[in-house]
Amino acid sequence: MAAVEIPGGHGLALPLRAGQAVRVVNTHGTQVVDTWALALGDTSEYLSVEHTRRMQFSLFPKLGEPFYSNRRTKMLLLEEDSFPGQHDTLFACCDKWLYQHYNCAPGHRSCRDNFLQAVFAAGFDATSVPNPVNLWMHIPVHDSARISIETPLSRPGDHVKLRALIDTLVVFSACPMDVVPINGPDLAPKPVHVEVVG
Ligand SMILES: [Zn+2]
Repeated sequence: MAAVEIPGGHGLALPLRAGQAVRVVNTHGTQVVDTWALALGDTSEYLSVEHTRRMQFSLFPKLGEPFYSNRRTKMLLLEEDSFPGQHDTLFACCDKWLYQHYNCAPGHRSCRDNFLQAVFAAGFDATSVPNPVNLWMHIPVHDSARISIETPLSRPGDHVKLRALIDTLVVFSACPMDVVPINGPDLAPKPVHVEVVG
């Protein structure tokens, strides 16, 4: 498969058989990519950041370690990561209610809608939206235990490789957030690229 572009603000779902991997490239360096995984055999089983934090005893994903499902199945392995920083697991994805909170015009794109549309387009159903892994999203945890929204530290071409450990539908959203500078100081969501690799 050649690399596929996900336009800034849009989403895509990709089925992966166990053993296949996907490379996600932060082409311009500043784009947060909300990432989910659903078990192909039963989409009520999903990658759970809450269970993963418990199993890894870490707030942030670790290179070489798996992401766990809500049934504590090892679903995806973070096999490669060119980025020395952190990927957020603390924030829920953006949704229409967050954009209402920011007084945006109705119809603003959101990661929640991107997830649902991508899952439906792939022929599956979803009744709820799990909390995602927010690749490259810079949410530092301060000494006071407060958290803040910061501009990304990632660089153009930074990439991760995620290997499926079970048959999985992976879902990506190049986050459409353009109110706070989570996708860079220019508030402009940008395209990323994904590619199924060996
Ligand atoms: Zn978003």
